[in-house]
Amino acid sequence: MQNHSLNAELKSVQQSLKNERQFKRDIIDALHDGIVIFNQRMSLEVMNQAAKQLLCFEPQHDEFFTDLEFFKNKKRTIKFNITRWLQQAIDQAQSAPKEILIWVRPNCSDHPSTPVLLSAKPILNNDQSFQALLLIIYDKTIVTHSDEQHRILEAAFNSYDGQFITNEKGYIIQPNFSFSAYTGLLPLELKTMTIIHWMQKQVTLKGNIQVEDILKSLLMEKKWSGEVQVHPNPETTFHAVLSLSMLIDDDKNIEHYVGTLQDITDIKESQANIERLAYYDELTGLPNRRLFMEHLDNSLLHHKRNHTYSAILYLDLDNFKEINDIYGHAIGDSAIQLTASKLAEILRAEDLVARISGDEFVILTQYNVISRTQAVQHALTLGSKIIQKLNQDYFIDEHQIPSSSSIGIHIIPGSEHDTPEQLVSCADLAMYEAKQRGKNQLYFYQTELTDKILRRREIEEALKHAHYDQEFYLVYQAQVSNHSEQISAETLIRWQHPVLGAIRPDQFISIAEETKQILKLGQWILRTAFNQVQQWNHQSQKPIHISINISPIQFHEATFVETILAIQHETQTNPKHITLELTEGILISNIEDALIKIKALAQLGYQLSIDDFGTGYSSLSYFQKLPIHELKIDQSFVAHIPGSKEDIAIIETIIQLANSKNLTIVAEGVETQEQVDFFKSHQSRILMQGFFFSHPERAEEFEKQFLSLPTTL
Ligand code: C2E
Ligand code: MG
Ligand code: MG
Repeated sequence: MQNHSLNAELKSVQQSLKNERQFKRDIIDALHDGIVIFNQRMSLEVMNQAAKQLLCFEPQHDEFFTDLEFFKNKKRTIKFNITRWLQQAIDQAQSAPKEILIWVRPNCSDHPSTPVLLSAKPILNNDQSFQALLLIIYDKTIVTHSDEQHRILEAAFNSYDGQFITNEKGYIIQPNFSFSAYTGLLPLELKTMTIIHWMQKQVTLKGNIQVEDILKSLLMEKKWSGEVQVHPNPETTFHAVLSLSMLIDDDKNIEHYVGTLQDITDIKESQANIERLAYYDELTGLPNRRLFMEHLDNSLLHHKRNHTYSAILYLDLDNFKEINDIYGHAIGDSAIQLTASKLAEILRAEDLVARISGDEFVILTQYNVISRTQAVQHALTLGSKIIQKLNQDYFIDEHQIPSSSSIGIHIIPGSEHDTPEQLVSCADLAMYEAKQRGKNQLYFYQTELTDKILRRREIEEALKHAHYDQEFYLVYQAQVSNHSEQISAETLIRWQHPVLGAIRPDQFISIAEETKQILKLGQWILRTAFNQVQQWNHQSQKPIHISINISPIQFHEATFVETILAIQHETQTNPKHITLELTEGILISNIEDALIKIKALAQLGYQLSIDDFGTGYSSLSYFQKLPIHELKIDQSFVAHIPGSKEDIAIIETIIQLANSKNLTIVAEGVETQEQVDFFKSHQSRILMQGFFFSHPERAEEFEKQFLSLPTTL
């Protein structure tokens, strides 16, 4: 009986122990964290559900150490030796558990790596001997993930842009470092400020924007962005873009405002730089044409409204091209700068002076006088002062450079509908007239000059669209001598425009030069003349020789010699029948290049002549170097023969020079018997060209007159 009850009691104790164990197991299994218990021999004793799930592992025996892989990092490059680590935990046997964050790759391989925190704690007997090891596995997936998110946010928040987050009331509770740095305000200070406080203290809004507009935009659109100026302290201002957005919760309550302050000072500076380049001349720092035109536009409105007058002065240095050519561009630049500063000395602060191209300046005065006559008087005084001031030698780098200027003046407003461009070109035209009248003077614009402009424009357009073969033709003017073996003539171009009628060379050649049309036209002239001389020499008994005028623009083309050669080959012309007429100007600009080209042409067999000799600047010494064949005495000297002793003296000198170098002389513009007699009285070889003998004639007429007739006198 006793046995039976003992047995029963034992059973009940066993049952309750079992129950208790099961109860503990259930508790362990119910835990969220993984629990693993190893016994004294480090065999797996207990492993709860969480551990199994976390590691995706269903243990059989002690495979825990063989089947599971642990890594020290997410990338699974460094293995973690758990056996050794657990052993260390046992050996150290401290009261605090040993912990480490590692990554587990459970044996179900497609399961992603899981970050877990291992916490190992040995359980000791009373005598401190090792009894068991408790390993707790905490799932760190969420924590790691949120850490990562946090790091990303932090990195974004710590950008170079100033950023801040406010609370629902707008207090700047979380500024990033950059925002503090930009505003010079510590986070603690910022915490006491709302966005509005801060803006009132440091921000100027651009345009007509008010703080209320920003609030409105935030309420309506939940965001606002705009350009602002920030003044962290009285001495510092920077440009920035401020962006604000409002965060609201599901119930539409304001939670936060988020702000970004992007410094755009660099962009602003480069914008200003671009503006400077767009509106100012780099060499002199003066306003350029564009800025001048904008001012003129405003000024015109002002004068029209107030019925007042002022003036535009258009200034051009005389002979600047020569300064550049003779002394070089650096000196040329210095001359421009010097001119700019001399002008600044004379002008009043309210006058505007701009450099609008090369050596051309325009001045817009601010007279505001109520009569045109007064404006004329003022402009005359100012213009004369400038002419005088600039008519003094410039001293640059030990060079003494002669200087003078020509000025065109136009009183504004002109007529009712004049545009700024038109007004400036009127002043330009007046300047041109001043030059024509002998330079170093000023000239007031007259309405007749407009006809010139219109004519000029007409010609420019007509040139652009000209059909060369139909509109242009060459005429030939005989050059006669008392002992000539050949028939000589100068080739001159004529233009018969279908609408504008006959246009004279002195009206269109300079325009063709300015617009570079002369390059194309020049080639047409060469080809036509070459063909003609080639054809004539085929037909005629006597050799026929022609002169062709070459424009300096043509001559200065890098490929000029090649062009001549190509046309020579194309037309099968013998160069010995051709003289190329150059002007003295050619020799002044880039003498070295001129010399090379002239030598090359002479070597090819061409004759070279200097046209209008005596009117240019060339020093006689240049001629020592040049293989030229002929000098043409300008008709302005011939015109005054035999009346002018001075002109006779000049002509005699030219003849002497030509004789000394064995050059042919051509006297241009011979119109009278006296002039013929004068030249005939000389022993030298002088060809005479002029209306006395013949006008320039078309090829057929010239043939009739000269090819069948003896040309000797
Ligand atoms: P230029 O080369 O000095 O030509 C001489 C000018 O004097 C020609 O004027 C001619 O018609 C004119 N002339 C001839 N005999 C007399 C006279 O007895 N009295 C007066 N008062 N004038 C006389 P044109 O043909 O009007 O040419 C003017 C200028 O245009 C030329 O001066 C030359 O520089 C240029 N030119 C003419 N044809 C050409 C050409 O084919 N090519 C180039 N590049 N320029 C040309
Ligand atoms: Mg000529
Ligand atoms: Mg001439």
